[in-house]
Amino acid sequence: MKIIDVHVHLLKWMPEVGFCPILTFNQTITDLHQDLIIGNVSHTILIPTYKEDNERDISFEALLNLTSDDLPPSRFSILGSIQVTGEPIQFEKGMKLLRENFASNRIVGVKICLGYEYIFPFDKRLEPIYKLCTIYDRPVVFHTGITLNEDRPARLEFAHPLHLDRVAFEHPELKIIMAHCGAPWFDSAMAVLSKNKNVFADISGMTEDNCLDGPYGQWVVDRIQGVMDYCSPTKFLYGTDYPLARQAVYQKFAKRLRMTKDEEEYFYYKNAKELFGLTWV
Ligand SMILES: [Zn+2]
Repeated sequence: MKIIDVHVHLLKWMPEVGFCPILTFNQTITDLHQDLIIGNVSHTILIPTYKEDNERDISFEALLNLTSDDLPPSRFSILGSIQVTGEPIQFEKGMKLLRENFASNRIVGVKICLGYEYIFPFDKRLEPIYKLCTIYDRPVVFHTGITLNEDRPARLEFAHPLHLDRVAFEHPELKIIMAHCGAPWFDSAMAVLSKNKNVFADISGMTEDNCLDGPYGQWVVDRIQGVMDYCSPTKFLYGTDYPLARQAVYQKFAKRLRMTKDEEEYFYYKNAKELFGLTWV
């Protein structure tokens, strides 16, 4: 069975060490290649930061440059990103970049970082992005649920999955992916997923290491299983949040979720192929 990982970052990050500014993004992509081979992953969706290049994370423009020789059919697709809460002139520049890269098929959706940007998903400033994604029939991926503290502390209220209901209701044509399934607000995620045809969830980012083998791992499996049983596993996508989680650990975790063979196909492959328009994968 083919596997698509829908949630991968290029971070200057190593297991056991954490963030490591001396790493280059080229080194990270080499390590990523290795991990994808180990996990027998056919395709990945790379997610840049909405900010400039920094000591941790790669910017949208830098990611486009780094992967410019790697056009489809390739192992990587890219999500566009944009800083929504910055200066209006920057936002306009960001929108131009999104438009150009949708038109040239270089991006397969847009990521919005709600809790990091302090913006609710129903904020009117996001409307041009929703319109663009609807025109190209590509998803908006929202970070939902608990946040890491970056250089400024994230705010959880913005990242609550329940807020996506209003967006899904007002934009029935817009495809929405709830990254991290709103963890740990799984009950709210379940309500939004079950009610709205146009909302899906990925299971990425439930761990930073092997802690999924312990009691926490069992708790997460039970909660996600509950949502899957209520809404159907066909509402879910496989994603890791590499490099915070690696293929070996995450595939072992995903295997603990009960699905039929047919549902597994949707979870690991078909949903991603359809939502992101990966016709060549
Ligand atoms: Zn992520």
